[in-house]
Amino acid sequence: MSEPIAFNFDNRLVKHLPFIYRPVSPTPLVNSHLVATSDAMLAELGIAKDDLHQTNFVDVFAGKVIPKGGYFHAQVYSGHQFGQYVPQLGDGRAISFGEIIAKSGQRLDVQLKGAGETPFSRMGDGRAVLRSCIREFLASEAMAALDIPTTRALCIIGSEHDVYRESVEKGAIMTRTSPSYIRFGHFEYWFHQGKKDELNQLADFCLAEYFPECLTQENPHKAMLAAIVQSTAMLIAKWQVHGFAHGVMNTDNMSILGLTIDYGPFGFLDDYQPSFICNHSDHTGRYAFDQQPSIGLWNLNALAITFSDWLSTEEIRAALSQYEPIFVQHYISLMQRKLGLATWQDEDQALLGEWLTLLAKQKADYTLNFRLLNQVFVDDVDNQQCQKLLAHFNDKQAVIEWLKKYRQRLADDDMTDSARHQIQNQHNAKFILRNYLAQQAIRQAEQGDYTEIERLQGVLQTPFDEQAGAEQYALPAPEWGKHLEISCSS
Ligand code: AMP
Ligand code: MG
Ligand code: MG
Repeated sequence: MSEPIAFNFDNRLVKHLPFIYRPVSPTPLVNSHLVATSDAMLAELGIAKDDLHQTNFVDVFAGKVIPKGGYFHAQVYSGHQFGQYVPQLGDGRAISFGEIIAKSGQRLDVQLKGAGETPFSRMGDGRAVLRSCIREFLASEAMAALDIPTTRALCIIGSEHDVYRESVEKGAIMTRTSPSYIRFGHFEYWFHQGKKDELNQLADFCLAEYFPECLTQENPHKAMLAAIVQSTAMLIAKWQVHGFAHGVMNTDNMSILGLTIDYGPFGFLDDYQPSFICNHSDHTGRYAFDQQPSIGLWNLNALAITFSDWLSTEEIRAALSQYEPIFVQHYISLMQRKLGLATWQDEDQALLGEWLTLLAKQKADYTLNFRLLNQVFVDDVDNQQCQKLLAHFNDKQAVIEWLKKYRQRLADDDMTDSARHQIQNQHNAKFILRNYLAQQAIRQAEQGDYTEIERLQGVLQTPFDEQAGAEQYALPAPEWGKHLEISCSS
């Protein structure tokens, strides 16, 4: 007999914000089984590897059993989707079963994604397909390893449950964890409903639980807005630096904690293409890669309006005006490290710009070629070390010209080649979740073979390290892998 798995629950949200959720019952999947787990998150929740089979772990994460102390619920929120306000959205296919005190001491809200209909499912079926669960699972593992703030994945449970999308696919449940799933859209919902009591309680709860340091400030709401502006700017700077496109930056997909949330049609850049649109349904390119910084601010504006009972227009403007400088400062400091520069000089902006233009013009791989800058050494005037890099460009002469300037610039810095090499390797990932790599793991998983998920997950765990035997995961995408159509339907 399998033992019931035990968690240390501390359900604050359902205790303090009764109006933001409805109790729901998950609808279990047919013939469920374990597909993947994250070792880091298992450890964080105090689950031993043996527990996976000796306890009712699979039944719990297939939505069949409520763990003792858990409480299944779905939350209501609204949001701006592609610029249009939608008065009610909510957890249509994500069901939380409660907040758990993790080993690190932090409280984690545990959500099953794809566990069936909720009162907020609208026209949807409340399901997630195996394909999209694998994408979110691998992406959140990869992002965490890149040190990009994100919700974390715990496990995927697969099934024989038919789910109807463009074709029939198998349903799955991906469990994710986060200190909170409160979105900009939570604030928008109560504000635009004109429900001031609820809005006040929501803000008080967020201040107490997630922004306690703001409570000691003269104006806690102002401090909280400033903190959200800051974490959002820093998050999007990291997305831009690592070549991550979210694809659906609606305000209901924006976390007040500045976490990457709701992985759908996301994509990491292969070739450097600034106007890259990863979401096949985004016909106007609203959420193109190079639009993300300005959309971040647009979304913060939508949030800031909901603070207008607490802050003056001037105060709101002042908070929002911090977005751009914080973004730029963070972006530049990360780019400085990617280029391996000890300091950032005014001319470096042009040097970076020329490099990005070369990548864009020659459709060269973003991640790999930044990584290969670690082969540029000051005294290697004959470019001996740069051959690997040059191999990725058609117009090699243009790159050689740029490399001359770059090498001169490096010579100005008071840093040894080996120190620079180390900094560059810590900031230029070698391994990212390329769409085609995810696709290969998905194809195999759809045939019942989950080994490629585990292998890829392992490689993505240490994206900045050289890894023996993993070279094929660092290669640029093959042509077929650059044009995979990923849409919102998942
Ligand atoms: P997304 O852009 O994927 O974050 O989803 C937007 C909204 O649609 C959210 O409120 C989701 O809960 C909801 N949604 C997406 N897919 C489904 C589905 N299959 N069933 C029910 N609701 C869904
Ligand atoms: Mg969403
Ligand atoms: Mg190319």
